[in-house]
Amino acid sequence: MQVPFIDLKTQYKAIKEDVDNAIHTVLDHGFFVNGPEVKQCEADLAQFTGSKHAVACASGTDALIMALMALNIGPGDEVITTPFSFVATAEAIVLVGATPVLVDIEPDSFNLNPELIEEAITDKTKAIMPVSLYGLLANLDTINAIANKHRLSVIEDAAQSFGAEWNELKSCASSTISCTSFFPAKPLGCFGDGGAVFTNDDQLQTTLMQIRDHGSESRYYHTRIGINGRLDTIQCAILSEKLKRYPWEMEQRDRVAKKYNQAFNELSEKGVAIPKVPENAKSVWAQYTLRVPNRDHFQAAMKEKGVPTAVHYPTTFDEQPAYKDLVRTVSATESKKAAKEVVSLPLFPDMQENVQDYVIKSIIEHF
Ligand SMILES: *Cc1c(COP(=O)(O)O)cnc(C)c1O
Repeated sequence: MQVPFIDLKTQYKAIKEDVDNAIHTVLDHGFFVNGPEVKQCEADLAQFTGSKHAVACASGTDALIMALMALNIGPGDEVITTPFSFVATAEAIVLVGATPVLVDIEPDSFNLNPELIEEAITDKTKAIMPVSLYGLLANLDTINAIANKHRLSVIEDAAQSFGAEWNELKSCASSTISCTSFFPAKPLGCFGDGGAVFTNDDQLQTTLMQIRDHGSESRYYHTRIGINGRLDTIQCAILSEKLKRYPWEMEQRDRVAKKYNQAFNELSEKGVAIPKVPENAKSVWAQYTLRVPNRDHFQAAMKEKGVPTAVHYPTTFDEQPAYKDLVRTVSATESKKAAKEVVSLPLFPDMQENVQDYVIKSIIEHF
């Protein structure tokens, strides 16, 4: 059997008629940029997340850049973030001219360790940028409290956590600005690149909308520096359709993850660690990620059996050639350990029982 890592074809087939109709509506009216589906999609996203405002944009990376620009973060400023994430987190900070200050993760959640944040704060610190990695909300409760105490902004990198919750906090609705990605492989993906920025602050929403459109306050009148960060009307039309199926997909992701957890619990004596989700937290399982001993050997053996695996992420920011001289590293021990041990398994909402059983059997046999 050859197992796919994710399966977007089955997902498309399930909603083909609605998606095709939505696309054709846009093709017929011809407003490919700033069409009516953009406002509709933003209203749908805001409603789903519980955030007051959603501003659709061209990618998760643009979302992060726009958030930093909206908060006037630039040269001389520091932004506290994790060493263990997709490169875009650090990239956005560097692109606006600020310095990423790296603070280590908690070994269980793989998210920013709030206990290590305060020792990293200086008079240059402007914001904290926690990443809700693998679909699990960062500890925003504690991080928001630290930010309030030191008068800092919080930018949630929610590229992997759209729909996640922890107690009464929801991803994309619980920080100064939150940023998500609709890259096709994310929990909620569009059919190309896409992203969104969320805020509860009316002033910031206005600023974000101006930044998205070359910093224009009105047509051809530019009051600030911006970018072209718009999301195509067609992608917005697709997103609104895909969002309708997303609650079911989140349930299926959780079902698959829980079955993995149950199956792999017994491997703890072999040095395998299953992901831990705190009580009252709801992960959207952007990745199902184990820690394993001898990872290279494990991945090679799985490949042979037709079970694809992936490493998110093998190198921390402080060791990336392009970044090592641009970051200030405060702590990264657990991040480096995780980078050597983590491995993600196939997980998608339309995963068939027999396919998952095959993945489980292959892994149990290996160990
Ligand atoms: C995917 C991702 C991004 C970037 O999103 P794009 O839409 O690919 O630009 C940023 N941060 C994290 C944590 C991501 O996983």
